[in-house]
Amino acid sequence: MLIKLKEEVLEANITLFKSGLVLHTWGNVSGIDRENLLMVVKPSGVGYDKMKTNDMVVLDLEGNIIEGELLPSSDAPVHLELYKNFPCIGGIAHTHSTHATAWAQAGRSIPAMGTSHADHFYGDIPCTRKLSSEETAGNYEKNTGRLIVDTFKNIDASSVPGVLVNDHGPFTWGNNPGEAVFNATVLEEVARMAILTHAISGYDIIDKHLLDKHYLRKHGRDTYYGQKKKNHE
Ligand code: 13P
Repeated sequence: MLIKLKEEVLEANITLFKSGLVLHTWGNVSGIDRENLLMVVKPSGVGYDKMKTNDMVVLDLEGNIIEGELLPSSDAPVHLELYKNFPCIGGIAHTHSTHATAWAQAGRSIPAMGTSHADHFYGDIPCTRKLSSEETAGNYEKNTGRLIVDTFKNIDASSVPGVLVNDHGPFTWGNNPGEAVFNATVLEEVARMAILTHAISGYDIIDKHLLDKHYLRKHGRDTYYGQKKKNHE
């Protein structure tokens, strides 16, 4: 079942690994079939070079395994919370990429400091609060998902497609698994630039007019970045 989505999720996981953002098995990508309300995610702890299409695990939104021989990613409950609460998203990626994780470990949101950030994230990339010991001891992964959702109660998840989980690392999302991986690479790069900028001049935040200009020329109604779409596209 869901062969096309499994292929898409596998390919996105491999791309994530090849992008250099993931060491060993530190990361995961999933996709959702909104029609059938099923999520496809990579298996837990399996090397990216060993994963096959049929190793992808299919889950319903309650976390029951619908198809798959292997156990799903340990972060599957995080992904499920995000799919349930952010109806605009179709794919999620998680990494422990170095510079994004450094901000997460510092418990600091990544401020929008320049146009590379503004082209993709319409404002700061938020860092969650820390989980309490009860939240960690309880349903840890589900509580992590809830914490992300809570962090976004006043933020539009489609214009800020990523978050830092405090003391842990980044999760990004997009319309599909490939886009979620793309956003993971952008997040890592803007995290790196922000550290360097901060080292040079402290919190040098982008002007609001430039943030608006760069985000809105690429996203929304009045975009003009890139090529015009042909009729058949
Ligand atoms: P999984 O192999 O279970 O997906 O775990 C990877 C990871 O990064 C956990 O945070």
